[in-house]
Amino acid sequence: MDLSLRLQRLQPSATLAMSQRSSELKAQGVDVINMSVGEPDFNTPDHIKQAAHQAIDQNYSRYSPVPGYPELKAAIADKLKIENNLDYAPSQILCSNGAKQSVCNTIMALIGQGDEVIIPAPYWVSYPQMVLLAEGTPVFVEATIEQDFKITPAQLEAAITPRTKALILCSPSNPTGSVYTRAELEGLKNVLVKYPDIIVIADEIYEHINYVGHHESIAQFADIRDRVVIINGVSKAYAMTGWRIGFIAAPDWIVKACNKLQGQYTSGPCSVSQKAAEAAYRGSQQCVEDMRQAFQRRRDLIVRLAKDIPGLEVNVPQGAFYLFPKCSAYFGKSDGNRTINTSTDFAMYLLEVGHVATVGGDAFGSPQCFRMSYATSDENIIEAMRRIKEAVARLK
Ligand code: PMP
Ligand code: GLU
Repeated sequence: MDLSLRLQRLQPSATLAMSQRSSELKAQGVDVINMSVGEPDFNTPDHIKQAAHQAIDQNYSRYSPVPGYPELKAAIADKLKIENNLDYAPSQILCSNGAKQSVCNTIMALIGQGDEVIIPAPYWVSYPQMVLLAEGTPVFVEATIEQDFKITPAQLEAAITPRTKALILCSPSNPTGSVYTRAELEGLKNVLVKYPDIIVIADEIYEHINYVGHHESIAQFADIRDRVVIINGVSKAYAMTGWRIGFIAAPDWIVKACNKLQGQYTSGPCSVSQKAAEAAYRGSQQCVEDMRQAFQRRRDLIVRLAKDIPGLEVNVPQGAFYLFPKCSAYFGKSDGNRTINTSTDFAMYLLEVGHVATVGGDAFGSPQCFRMSYATSDENIIEAMRRIKEAVARLK
């Protein structure tokens, strides 16, 4: 008896696997600092939790419409207008079980055998796997640390072929924290204008975790707007990763297709979580700003401490809550017991010797680097960086 080929080809999520490994070590009594998985360490704000309590009391306990409650879609349409100056009708919004399902729905709806999807590397681990699941072909465009991990218009154009169906753009980026400026997005847009069949999947889940100013969406450019799919949700901005609410804002035909898929696959997302998400979008946005400021303070802290570790090359991330240093200076070195040959070896070494869980860059398409999530306390960041510094000092 065999698993399907589709499943056999699928890689497990490296971020979730590393987090699991860290939890197992913790359960064995090892004092591990977990900087592997990317999720805010804050609790969901009280007014959002209260809305969920109320939703339970008001019997929001039945199936919602497949694309989500009309009130939630209206709240999201208002958010897109107020925060992003983008006009979307509620019918152009579809809510799912987290932004992860939103990305996967979009890929499943659009991509088939022979279709190429351009994915700038470093990338979030799940994009290529989802494309493979859809039997498409990921085409990677490498952005180095020297170019601040952002692709140029010339690189984009060189990767386009007659089979290119979509581009996945993540800004602010997981895993690098890089943020495309308006001018940089416009440069990419000017290439896309020449290729009217390419869809842009714009993952904006880190929209609010931005240290350089206002979020810029590639959907703002009217001449490609009818082929942009915005991905967003409440997970990161409102510390709601476990509630599982994400959405797409997209042209009607793509929303309809995802609705059909979701209707056969998962139905509408959790009813209570939808009411909580509606409260998040309708309520005061002060909590978002408070968390953003905390992340910015921690960004400054971790960058300062990482720059003090010999052999690490560090850029200054402008958003999200990840640091993605280059660690390849340690390749070929050993502590006497084990030799570091890859970024995954490096991450395993930091876990087993330093008791700090990170993720090797291999899974993000950037084998020279590794990722640390700094969505944790200042004390944890300080202690983690002390341990890393001590552990790497033993590598000769
Ligand atoms: N896109 C990116 C870039 C992410 O980092 C994440 C976080 N897992 C997601 C999408 C999915 O978010 P969610 O938790 O809402 O599914
Ligand atoms: N986005 C987070 C991360 O990259 C959550 C884990 C996941 O969904 O992969 O760590």
